[in-house]
Amino acid sequence: MASRAEILRELHLAPEWRLRRGAIVAGQDAGAPVEGAPAPAQTATTRLERIATLGWDEFAADVAACTACCLCRTRNLVVPGVGDIRAQWMLIGEAPGAEEDARGEPFVGQAGKLLDNMLAALGMNRRENVYIANVLKCRPPGNRTPAPAEVDACRPYLERQIALIQPRLILALGKSAASLLLGTDASIASLRGRVHRCRGVPLVVTYHPAYLLRSLHEKAKAWEDLLLARRTVGAYLYETDPVANE
Ligand code: URA
Repeated sequence: MASRAEILRELHLAPEWRLRRGAIVAGQDAGAPVEGAPAPAQTATTRLERIATLGWDEFAADVAACTACCLCRTRNLVVPGVGDIRAQWMLIGEAPGAEEDARGEPFVGQAGKLLDNMLAALGMNRRENVYIANVLKCRPPGNRTPAPAEVDACRPYLERQIALIQPRLILALGKSAASLLLGTDASIASLRGRVHRCRGVPLVVTYHPAYLLRSLHEKAKAWEDLLLARRTVGAYLYETDPVANE
């Protein structure tokens, strides 16, 4: 009885070609890892290197094309950031909510209105004097707390934004931002009231505006934090107290 190899030779189908692991298969992404195989280290390094050298012209498009975590499947719009790319103040929140996800801009919901009021009382606004970003650029479904893997995947974008802006002050809004930027799990209460450093940049911690909406009695403390931030930047005097007046 003829062997399989002999039959294939008779049919002019020899030598037999076998698909190697990682080969490009029609219809598949040439760069896609083979299912079940560990992602090549090169891929992660290349992504980090690319993000670390992005300019503003490419930044938003790069974020919009990001598929580094599962949030890319549920987001409507990415929310890279808003504001003055030469600002002295950089404000960093947690993650987009439903309204931000629909509009592609951070802090446009109720918490954003409070933030705008606080900025206005400092004589500032979101388009001219500050740059506002989030730890995550995509909305976690149901506004749940960002998962560690999502924070890790998104961190290079925030690092690149900080490097491009070179702010004179970072204001961390809430626990997610403070934890990531300071590498600590400490509470906001224990972190606020003093100036920290993040990569050499002075950093002030304050309560997240969404928390302030639920905890009106903390607004005075948030105002103190803003004054500390203002003193740290060496900015001007203000006349009204936005937090107390809310
Ligand atoms: N909360 C955040 O932390 N960021 C936003 O953009 C909106 C709400």
